[in-house]
Amino acid sequence: MLGGDFKTRQDLIEVGRRLDRKGYIAANDGNLSVRLGPARVLVTASGTIKGHLSPDDFVIVDLDGRVIEGSRRPSTEIAMHLAIYRVRSDVGAVVHAHPPIATGFAVAGIPLALCVLPEIVLTLGSVPLTTYAPPATAELARSLEPHVKHADAVLLRNHGAVTCGPDLFEAYYRMERVEHFAHILLVARLLGNVGVLSREQVRALMGSHGQPLVSMPCEVCDVAAGTAAETGAPAAAAAAPAAAAAPQSAPDEDLAAIIAQSVRKVLGG
Ligand SMILES: [Zn+2]
Repeated sequence: MLGGDFKTRQDLIEVGRRLDRKGYIAANDGNLSVRLGPARVLVTASGTIKGHLSPDDFVIVDLDGRVIEGSRRPSTEIAMHLAIYRVRSDVGAVVHAHPPIATGFAVAGIPLALCVLPEIVLTLGSVPLTTYAPPATAELARSLEPHVKHADAVLLRNHGAVTCGPDLFEAYYRMERVEHFAHILLVARLLGNVGVLSREQVRALMGSHGQPLVSMPCEVCDVAAGTAAETGAPAAAAAAPAAAAAPQSAPDEDLAAIIAQSVRKVLGG
């Protein structure tokens, strides 16, 4: 009945469960898709609860978003998924969710664009932040365009995160990495010091692991920026995160003071 994509639907159901279990979505949040062929994308239907998907909770659309199989409406964020597939022929799956800590950074207007953790430098690189666009609009899809060519994970301003990968599980694991990175960075900021790797340390890391996967420039070091230049990333993309980096330390101090004040209040001190 569901043809040759039954296993893919089972995998999508499993990833929906994991997003739910991890607390990356609430109610009918988020959406998932897998590229089945050059012009066929299997995507979650609109309004479905991703933690409790069934095999018929999907539709197949072409790259213009027209339903070619299934009776449901596709996810309202289908334009965002298709924008990624159109730009990135290497992408086989897209995951969108609202993981709370990474989304907190997206609300605060802070991209995850620092070389802080070696594993992240080597697997994910910098996670850029889009300009704000309302959910479920062509504008949101357009806001991704400057970033998705060079990044496998992007924060959506005041909204959430989107990741992509060669297959569904890799796209999902990137979402886990984004949230884990955001969590660690939040703790470091709360503790009052974000120890950023030096350019030399990043260079050494990249040297020991061959061709780095980092494609977006880091806020601080120019190693990744050099990589972006080699791969043809626009100069504006290299400059934008640097501009956002300036208030890195001062807000941390403010934040620490606010937290200390709140704690004192709660403890009655
Ligand atoms: Zn969303």
